[in-house]
Formats: sequence, C-alpha cells, structure tokens
Amino acid sequence: MNKTLKFWILTLTTFTMIAILSSSLFSSYLVTKKSLIENSLEQNEMYALKLGKMSEEVFKAMEANLEARKPDVIAHIDNPKELTRILDQLLISGKNFNSLSVIGSDSIAIATSPNVGISGNKIESPGVVEALRKKESFISKPYKAITGRLLILVSTPLFDESDTYLGMLNGTIYLQEDNFIQNILAEHFSEDGSYVFVVDEQGTLIYHPDKKRIGENVSENNAIQKIMNKKNGAQEIYNTQGTHLLAGYSYIPESKWGVVSQTPFESSLQPLNGIMTKMFIYSLPFVILFFVLAYLLSEKLASPLKKLAISTMNSYVEDVSVDKIKISTWYFEAKQLTETIDNYRKLQEEEVANFKNQSMTDPLTGLKNRRYSELLFADLLEQNSSFSIISIDIDHFKRVNDEYGHQIGDETLQFLASKMMSIVSDNDVCVRLGGEEFVMILPNYSLDEAFNLAEKFRNEIEMSVLPMNRKMTISAGVGEYKANKESVSELLNRVDEALYVAKSEGRNKTIISP
Ligand code: GH3
Ligand code: MG
Ligand code: MG
Repeated sequence: MNKTLKFWILTLTTFTMIAILSSSLFSSYLVTKKSLIENSLEQNEMYALKLGKMSEEVFKAMEANLEARKPDVIAHIDNPKELTRILDQLLISGKNFNSLSVIGSDSIAIATSPNVGISGNKIESPGVVEALRKKESFISKPYKAITGRLLILVSTPLFDESDTYLGMLNGTIYLQEDNFIQNILAEHFSEDGSYVFVVDEQGTLIYHPDKKRIGENVSENNAIQKIMNKKNGAQEIYNTQGTHLLAGYSYIPESKWGVVSQTPFESSLQPLNGIMTKMFIYSLPFVILFFVLAYLLSEKLASPLKKLAISTMNSYVEDVSVDKIKISTWYFEAKQLTETIDNYRKLQEEEVANFKNQSMTDPLTGLKNRRYSELLFADLLEQNSSFSIISIDIDHFKRVNDEYGHQIGDETLQFLASKMMSIVSDNDVCVRLGGEEFVMILPNYSLDEAFNLAEKFRNEIEMSVLPMNRKMTISAGVGEYKANKESVSELLNRVDEALYVAKSEGRNKTIISP
C-alpha cells in the first residue's frame, strides 16, 4: 500500500529533526572541544608562570642568603671550624639548599654543611671547576658530584679587601632528593595526569616527577625550545615520548630555567563526553515536544486531504455528490483542491446528463428517439401504468421531398414535431421513431382520450398552412396498452396496422386499433 501524506510529513520532520539535532550537537562538540583545549592551555600557562615566579623569588632569596653571609665567610676563611658553624646556621636558616660548602681558590674544600666528609679534599667536579674558573656568581648545569649525587651548584665568589680571589661560597641542590624545587612543585600533581617539570638553559631536566628522568635532555620538545628562546606561552605538543599534551611554559630569567606545566590532551577533553551527554539529554524534552507537535500538525495537514480522498473515492463508488461531503479545509491548498474536485465533479455530472440527454434525443426535431421510448415503455410497464399511444405518419411525404427538396422535407418534419410538442401536456412524450414515423406516448390516457387527442392533432395539422403555402395531412393509429395481455411491440404492431388502415382508407384519418 502507498504511504500516506502523514507518513511522509512525519518522515520529513523526523529527518529534519535528526539533521538539526546532530548538526547542533556536532558544532557544540567542536566549540566545547576548542574551549576545553584553550582552557587547559591557558591554565597550564598561568600555572607555569606562577611557578616560574615563585621559583624566581626563592632563587633570589637563596642568592641573597649566600651574599649576606659572604663577609662572615671571608672573615673566617682560615678557620674551618668557624666556617662550618656559619654554614650550619646558613643551611638551617636558608632551608632551600641541600648542602653548603666553602671551597678555596685551590679547589680544596675548606668547610661543608652537612659534613659529607670531603673537607680538605681537592674537589674537581665539573661545577666546581667551572665556578673557580669563572670567579663570578654562577649556577652550574646539573652534574654528578663525587658523592654520586646529581646536583646543581649555586656559587658566589669570595674576594678579600685587596680583591684577591679567595675561593667561593656554594650552595647545592640535590636534584633527585628533597629539594626546594620539589617543595614548590610537588603540590601540582593531579589525577588527570597533569604534571610540572623544570629544565635548565640547555634543556636538561632539573625537576621531573619521574626522578629517573632528571638529567635527561629534552630540548627536542617544542615547548622547551620556546623556553630556550626565553619565551612564555602555551601550545599543543608531542613530548619526546610521543604523548599528545597541552603545555604551558614559562622562562625564569634569574636561573635561566624553564617551567613547563602540561596536561595530557585526552584528559583535557575528559569532560567532553559528559557535556555532550548532558546537551543531548537537555535537548531531549524539546525533541519530544517538537515531535508531538509535528505529529499533531501532520495529522491536521493530512486530515482534509485524507477525507477528500476517501470521500471522492466513495462518491464514485456510491455516486454521492462531493458537495455533500463536509471537509474542514483550513489551509489554501486543501480548500482549493476540495473546491476544484467539487467543481469538476459537478461539471462531470452535468456532462454525463447532457450526453445521456443527447443519446436519447432526435437531433433533427428535438423529440425523444427510439432508445428513449424503449426505456420509457420499460418504465411504464414496471410501474404498471396504463397508457395509450398514437402512431403518426405524414401523408404522401415523398412528394414533399420530390417537389421541394430534402431541406424542405426536413423543415416539414420539424414543423410537425413542434406542433406535436405544443399539443401534448408535460407528462406526455413525443417520439420520432425514424424517418417520418412519430409516436405520442400518453401515460394514463384511455383509448377515447387518446383518440380525441389524435383527432384534435390531425385537424390542427390539416388546418395549418406550411411555408410556401403548402398544406399537409397526417394519418394516425391509436391503441391502448392491454396490461399483461400483450408486449409493447405487439401494441406497436397493432397500432401500425390501424395506421395502415387509415392510409388505405384514404389518409388524413385516425383509426383505433381494435
Ligand atoms: P404515404 O402517404 O403512403 O405515407 O406516402 P409517403 O410518401 O409518405 O410514403 P412513405 O411513408 O413510404 O415514404 C417515406 C418517405 O419519407 C421516404 C423518404 O423520402 C422520406 N423521408 C424519410 N426520412 C426523411 C428525412 O429525415 N427527411 C426527409 N426530408 N425525408 C425523409
Ligand atoms: Mg411512412
Ligand atoms: Mg408517409
């Protein structure tokens, strides 16, 4: 079976709804994703900046601490015991160094705190060698000390009043143990996999939550290269291990280090699923409401057309006129369609009636024809009506044709027809059976009444003057139908015989069939 209009309207609205919903969800998805990424980048950048600032402050304080104790250290440069005491104090008050030492210009360790057993030894670790060579404030690269520790050396040179270089005062940071950087950064461990790390100016890891990685060079990392160019910022990166990350980075001018705070890309997008699910759930009531409205509207749209279709179908089957069908048409097309079908139906009915009429009418005279008479007879028989008939034939009609031509002959037939019509009442029917043979069918006429009418008509024709001053007479046979005793054709034959008698008796005569 063909699908209904309602089905198609609903299908259309459903598809439209799905399209709108999915496109809006998709664009929300893109927008949300973008803003989550931007958020995470911004957060990481802010965090790296903040940590960078904090580290910078701590660093300055550490250097200032060393600087402040320098005069004391210079004053007691030859007194290792006193120096050790000063260093012990400094270690407690400064907090941020893991160890402190005073090393002479000859590389011999004069004093250390805590006591790691290297006093009096010549120290040749890379940081010490470089610091002694530079003779200026210096922060070393990470290196392995003789104690086996990975550390950074922060040193400040010692000069006496005569500017003689005495050696240096050092603080160290043990990179793989508890240290100040870790104290600052340790809080930044989060469940979403975000973490912070610190690199020095060569891109070597100074701090990393995975301690084993400290000392590793990660300068290929895109964010690290920005730091090495002294820049702050945020960007999407793939780290040296191929992980997709959102990183914020900050350069610390004082130490020339860089802080990177980063969040795995996937965990930044973690909230996306939840947000999308929520969006979908929030839009569900509207979807349902819209669908119900669409359903109701489709019913309302389709209903007039459906009714129209059904009643048009019924009107053909049951022959009910369309204008009898009540259809509420509340929109233009349905109204127009109903009216058009209505008009078309009326026109068709008129045409059918017209054809019917034409097929039962004699075109020359306008009287009913033989087909009509047959139906009429059948009708009269069915209704058991009594009736009489008059059969009429023009006398010597051939002569009219011969003398005046066929045209005048036709006009004569028309004249006779109009005379017949004028003499009968509304219930009586005048028929041209063919040629110049006519019959009047007279329901409820007795034989006498029919005879009187025939005589009256015959007289009238005899009296009338036709065009070109012609005269005309007719002969007639009259008979009454004998119900249940004869057929109509028997009646017609009977009456024709009477007509034949009228002819043979000299014409212009009416004869009753016995
Ligand atoms: P009768 O008095 O014996 O009836 O003589 P009639 O000349 O009328 O003889 P009949 O009835 O046999 O002749 C019928 C004539 O009617 C024959 C034909 O020429 C003529 N006729 C038949 N139909 C038409 C028609 O439609 N138009 C014309 N003009 N003449 C017709
Ligand atoms: Mg005849
Ligand atoms: Mg005749």
